[in-house]
Amino acid sequence: MPIATTNPVTGEVLKTFDALTDEEIDAATGRSADAFRELRGTTFEQRAQWMRAAADLLEAEQDDVGALMTLEMGKTLTAAKAEVLKCAKACRYYADNAETFLADEPADAEAVGALRAYARYQPLGPVLAVMPWNFPLWQAMRFAAPALMAGNTGLLKHASNVPQTALYLGELFARAGFPAGAFQTLLVGSDAVEKILTDSRVRAATLTGSEGAGRSIAAIAGRELKKTVLELGGSDPFIVLPSADIAEAARVATTARSQNNGQSCIAAKRFIVHTDVYDEFVNAFVTNMSALTVGDPMSDGTDVGPLATEQGRADVEEQVADAVAKGATVRCGGARPDGDGWWYPPTVVTDLTPDMRMYAEEVFGPVAGVYRVTSIDEALELANATPYGLGSNAWTDDSLEAEHLIDGLDAGAVFVNGMVTSYPQLPFGGVKASGYGRELSAAGIREFCNLKAVWVGAGGDAGIDDKTE
Ligand code: NAP
Repeated sequence: MPIATTNPVTGEVLKTFDALTDEEIDAATGRSADAFRELRGTTFEQRAQWMRAAADLLEAEQDDVGALMTLEMGKTLTAAKAEVLKCAKACRYYADNAETFLADEPADAEAVGALRAYARYQPLGPVLAVMPWNFPLWQAMRFAAPALMAGNTGLLKHASNVPQTALYLGELFARAGFPAGAFQTLLVGSDAVEKILTDSRVRAATLTGSEGAGRSIAAIAGRELKKTVLELGGSDPFIVLPSADIAEAARVATTARSQNNGQSCIAAKRFIVHTDVYDEFVNAFVTNMSALTVGDPMSDGTDVGPLATEQGRADVEEQVADAVAKGATVRCGGARPDGDGWWYPPTVVTDLTPDMRMYAEEVFGPVAGVYRVTSIDEALELANATPYGLGSNAWTDDSLEAEHLIDGLDAGAVFVNGMVTSYPQLPFGGVKASGYGRELSAAGIREFCNLKAVWVGAGGDAGIDDKTE
């Protein structure tokens, strides 16, 4: 994939970039290792000051960086600016909380024959971050803010279609005061990832992206015995039971499926509706999806812009065509408009069966699949019947039903009477083919730390009894 800014509104290539040479990658990795030696010696207070300065920069520059994201991948400018502000919040959250999250954890000294015993979190070193284009700032920030606050350094290999946003990120933290080299962007294609990850100076990797990229990076990291966090795809269920507020469920379902032009890992993608409220929900949902304003993502009134890439749109078209060929019904949308750019309309498809690709695959565009079920257990079974397990949404006014779903859904998150969203305060990640490890919250900052056991004795025989391992 060429490293280039291509406007998805028109399909026009606006700017191209050369990939870094091997020598340039080597030099950047060296700078990262040098910056790590410096950063690990700084205090939380110092790093927090720099992190708050990064938040200030993001807030001051939200219009420009928001417009850049919209230009490169087509999300609405309103959503892009909100994303910038969310990043600033995450910077402040980790500036405020990192020291508490990584405080020494006392252990029972007497039980281990020590004078003092505790566990200490320490940074690992340079971490490679391979990131996707769909939330070009937020995905990278979810890694960067906790990693830098822990004292790690970052090497960002961003998606090839958002190079200018990647370059902005590559300068942000140095501008905020972090040591030069603490967080760098490497403009490289995915073919350079293996070389970077096998460099002994790089200690770990995080990837947010597709299942295929996850398998590839995990295989390399496995050979190298390096820690990975993988945030992969999802096909989140949105269960609607009869006791729910159906109009509200249909309203939120519309946002959950169309946000970010339908290209969110945690977008609700499969709508699993009890037969008693199926017609009411589907009618309201189709009305809402049809009413969304599709158009110029730079305009205030736009709900849905174009898809980010030509290939992405082709994938969505093929999945819908496959379903239709096998008997599915398109209730709205379902056909691309004529003209330039990678447009695809909000679409609702019903009458889906297990032989259709949409049934088990992730659809990365504004296309909703709706399923009819006759019981909560059938809903649960269908919700869990994909390879993925990222987020899940459950709509019910019955607390026993809610508990049943909270326990039963195989997913990294369940949101009851709401839609899955990421918050700095809550862990974020998946199970099954959606990956492993967690970002955000205290769990996120601990992922790239060495949890060091510290045992301090008085010498002599203390602890000798348990020297078996
Ligand atoms: P993608 O193709 O996997 O790209 C993501 C990143 O991985 C890009 O930087 C890409 O580089 C790189 N990459 C691709 N193949 C690679 C390989 N074999 N080895 C090493 N690096 C590789 O993903 P996408 O299709 O652009 O993004 C959408 C996917 O990301 C969806 O599945 C979505 O659900 C998932 N996602 C997950 C989360 C989450 O938190 N769980 C969040 C957002 C998105 P190039 O651009 O140079 O190819």
